[in-house]
Amino acid sequence: MWDFSLMMPCVLMLFTILGFYFSEPRLPIRANRTFMILLALELFVMASDIVSSLADQNYQSLSSVSLYVANTIYFMLFFARSYWFYRFGLGVIHIASEAQRCIEILLSMPFWLGEALCVSSAFTGAVFYIDSTGYHSGPLYGILYLCSFLYIGLSLLLLFRRGQGLRRHERNGLIAYNAILLAGNVLRMLLPRVLVMDTFCTMAITTIFFAFMNPHLYIDQSRIAFNKRGLRILLSEAHENDGLHVLGMVVKNYQQDRVVLGSKRIDGAIESICIWLMQSFPQNVLFYLGSGRLAMTGENDANWEDVYQRIRTRFFEPWETDGNALDLDVRFVNIDETTDLNTPDVIIGTLLFALESAARDSGTAPDSDKDILSIEDIHEEIKTIRALERVLEHNEVEVFLQPIVLSGTHRLVGAEALARIRDEHGDIVPPSLFIPIAEHEGLIDKLGIQVLNKVCVFITSHDLRQLGLQWININLSPLQCVQRDIVERFTQILEQHDISPDLIHLEITEQSLIDYSLVEKQVLQLHDMGFRFSLDDYGTGYSNLVRLSDYPFANIKLDMSLVHGYSNDKNYLLPVMVSALKDVGYTITAEGIETEEMALCISDIGADYLQGYLFSKPLPIDEFVRTYG
Ligand code: C2E
Ligand code: MG
Ligand code: MG
Repeated sequence: MWDFSLMMPCVLMLFTILGFYFSEPRLPIRANRTFMILLALELFVMASDIVSSLADQNYQSLSSVSLYVANTIYFMLFFARSYWFYRFGLGVIHIASEAQRCIEILLSMPFWLGEALCVSSAFTGAVFYIDSTGYHSGPLYGILYLCSFLYIGLSLLLLFRRGQGLRRHERNGLIAYNAILLAGNVLRMLLPRVLVMDTFCTMAITTIFFAFMNPHLYIDQSRIAFNKRGLRILLSEAHENDGLHVLGMVVKNYQQDRVVLGSKRIDGAIESICIWLMQSFPQNVLFYLGSGRLAMTGENDANWEDVYQRIRTRFFEPWETDGNALDLDVRFVNIDETTDLNTPDVIIGTLLFALESAARDSGTAPDSDKDILSIEDIHEEIKTIRALERVLEHNEVEVFLQPIVLSGTHRLVGAEALARIRDEHGDIVPPSLFIPIAEHEGLIDKLGIQVLNKVCVFITSHDLRQLGLQWININLSPLQCVQRDIVERFTQILEQHDISPDLIHLEITEQSLIDYSLVEKQVLQLHDMGFRFSLDDYGTGYSNLVRLSDYPFANIKLDMSLVHGYSNDKNYLLPVMVSALKDVGYTITAEGIETEEMALCISDIGADYLQGYLFSKPLPIDEFVRTYG
């Protein structure tokens, strides 16, 4: 008599896994296909196990043909199951090169041999035979176990030889499910009457599910898109074939919006974006990489320009979130099939790097219409980082000086020091490119110190009075301001060069006042040491006049956008603003003066100082000295 008592819980367990597995989205990866085959095989094995066992039990009332058919199907499925458990391991270890494919074919031979023996058993009686007393094991019955042991052994061998890339829980999972299969086979040998093998196979499938196939391993917390881990797997498989096209997207100002609008609203908007993307491009796979970053993958030959344009256009409309509508700005990164990035890790690393860069808008500047970064842009940015590192290492940051003149007489009174670096061909890299990168890469501090040192050398080696200079302006990044030792370092440098701090005017941007509270403290300390302060790019941020009074500014620099705007359209706002600022006691510098007309109209509304191409572009120090000496 056969004992079916262990069958029912196994069937229930398998259906539980099936239900859970199919209720979540699945990545189009090999492991998923293999797992589905395994699930189906196990269900068929169980069914055929029951059918063939019942048939063998009632052999007297059945024809020998039906007995042969039932048993042949069962044994064929048994061999197939052992083989597909091994194929699953092969898939997750990522063995796919040409040579390995040949070995793969070779190693599938025992499976095919087993299948052939099963089919031929009806004539040879090799695996089993039926006679007047019913079903009997044949002389080659043991090949069933041999084949299982061979594939278990092969899986473990592959794991130890090639499984270095697996995570710990994946290695453990692979060892565990093979050990379970081994135990199942041994028990089956010892207790042939109890249908124990299916229990062990169900346990092995459950282990695989938890170690590899649980959809939550690859789905983002939002449970809408896949996660970075899913992207890595998909890319590694695609890499072995034709590759995939990756379109990255990043919501600009995500971090600020999270603080200002609250995480609930911004998360809701991201969810709306994901849903829209998945509905609009069902043929592609969507990933959420955290911090407002998304990636979509798909076939290389799809019309990606169209995809990009459609998403871009959709972002002109607000996104629904928490009962509100939210306008969001997006930037793109395009990684196409022509890219020679060789491993998935490099592709993901480059993508994340590019998304960060896109979020900062560096790399694409000064072309502000361009909201998509290509891999060439990224290479360009990486080149800039290299140039920056090289220049800083060899103390080769150059300082250019741009004159600042009195508004009435256009007489030189000061100069702004502007940093320049050169690429490997000796060409100047614009600060709009390298300053954000220096800030992001933690190099701005070193750069600022080199600029200050070089300005100090300039001051000590020239007669400022003879040049007409009363002070030099130096730009201070907000990230420099939050360095705790900035005050000591700056005073130390000035002491080294024996320079009075009031010769240096430090420019900080309006934006930095919003971001950091530490800035205020440090600025006040530097001011106490004798440094003077200018507010740079006034009119580009949102700071209010009340907040300005917390800072010891002596001078306000009107951003060139205000200046150009006013010269095109003489509205009443700028004169009122300038007069209010002057009433409070600030002096006013107007930046970006390019024409006589601009100089005149800005002087008329009360600007004290002017700076711009009309007087001079920023010049290398020796050229500046030659021109004004
Ligand atoms: P900024 O401090 O507002 O400097 C003025 C920028 O306007 C300079 O650009 C200058 O060349 C440009 N400019 C001056 N006159 C005119 C004009 O008439 N027309 C036009 N279209 N542009 C004019 P630059 O040198 O490219 O520097 C860009 C920004 O990079 C600077 O803006 C500053 O924020 C930053 N930067 C430059 N050097 C340093 C530095 O040593 N440290 C830090 N932290 N930032 C720096
Ligand atoms: Mg400046
Ligand atoms: Mg400025």
